[in-house]
Amino acid sequence: MNAAVMEAPQVAAEQNLLEIRKLRKYFGKGTHPVRAVDDVSFTIRQGETLGLVGESGSGKSTIGRLLTRLVDPTGGEMLYTPQGASAPQDLAHLSQSQFRPLRSKVQIIFQDPYASLNPRMRIRDVLGEALDTHGLAKGAARTPRIHELLAQVGLRPEHADRFPHEFSGGQRQRIGIARALAVEPQFIVADEPLSALDVSIQAQVVNLLGELKEKLNLTLLFISHDLDVVEYLCDRVVVLYLGRVMEIAPTHSLYADPKHPYTRALLAAAPIPDPAQRRVVPLLQGDLPSPANPPSGCVFRTRCPRAEERCASADMQLREVKPGHWHACWRDDL
Ligand code: ADP
Ligand code: MG
Repeated sequence: MNAAVMEAPQVAAEQNLLEIRKLRKYFGKGTHPVRAVDDVSFTIRQGETLGLVGESGSGKSTIGRLLTRLVDPTGGEMLYTPQGASAPQDLAHLSQSQFRPLRSKVQIIFQDPYASLNPRMRIRDVLGEALDTHGLAKGAARTPRIHELLAQVGLRPEHADRFPHEFSGGQRQRIGIARALAVEPQFIVADEPLSALDVSIQAQVVNLLGELKEKLNLTLLFISHDLDVVEYLCDRVVVLYLGRVMEIAPTHSLYADPKHPYTRALLAAAPIPDPAQRRVVPLLQGDLPSPANPPSGCVFRTRCPRAEERCASADMQLREVKPGHWHACWRDDL
C-alpha cells in the first residue's frame, strides 16, 4: 500500500469546505484556446487559510473567479460543503440563478479596491447596497450594522458618510473587506489584496484578515505573489504554474522542504529592491510559455533546470511524498 492510500483516513477526518476536481477554464475556442486553468485539483478545508502562489499568468485569478462564479468553468467540479450540510453542492454545475443564493457565502476581495468602489457612492451606500442584495439588516437595523462592519475593519462610524476618494489605499481595502463581510460569507477569496498597498500598510491588512478569519470563522483563499506574506498567513499552499498544480503542502513543509523544481525556483527568487514594488522575480530562464500552446508532458520542463528527455512525454500527476505534501515531479532526488 502506498503512502497516499495509508494517509487517506486521516485526511478525510478534516472537513473540506471545497473540493476542486479537474477544474478547467479555457478562454477562446478553436484548436488553441488559452488554457488558463487546466485540470486543477485541490481541497480547501473548513476554517483554513490556503495560499495560492505562482508567477503572473499562472491562472491564480482565474481560479478565484471560478470559485466565486464570476466566470463559468469549462470543466470539472467545485464541491462545496458548508458546515452542517449533509451533501456537497457542485458550484461548477449550478446555473447563475441557482448560484445566486450562494453568492453571499462566497465573496471575493480584489487587488485594487478603488476600481471596485463606485466613486459617487458614500460608504454607507456601498455597504447598504451589499446588504440590500441579500435582504440583510433592513430598517432600523441598517445603521448599527454599517457601524459594526466599519468597526470590524478598524474604521469609525463617521467614515460611513465619506466617498471612496476620501480614504487612503489601506482604508479603501478595509472598505472592500467590510463590503465582503456585509453579506456574512463563509469563504473569501482575497486576490492579491496587498499588491496596491504601501508596504507599511500591508502588514496591517494582513493582520486584519487573519483576525477576521478567526473571529468570524471564515475560510480564506489567499492569492499572492508575496511568498513571505503567504508563509506568515497561510496554513497550506498550492503552487500553480501555467494553469497546473505543481505542489501542495502544509506551509512549514513547503518552505522548509520544497520538492518541486518550480517551487524551489520561486523560493530562491530575488525580491525587487523597491519596497513599493514588492514582488518576487523567479530565478528562471525565459518567459512563461503561452498557455494557448503549453509544452507537452510536464508543462514546466522548458524552464526546468533538471529537465530530461522523458519529461516531454511524462503524464505528470501529483504524488504524496510526505503526509499532506504532494508534488508533480517524478524525481525524488533533488
Ligand atoms: P494570474 O492571476 O496568475 O496572473 P490569470 O488567471 O489572470 O493569472 O491568467 C491566466 C491566463 O489566462 C493568462 O494567460 C491570461 O492572459 C489568461 N486570461 C485571463 N483572463 C482571460 C480572459 N478573460 N480572456 C482571455 N484570456 C484570459
Ligand atoms: Mg491575478
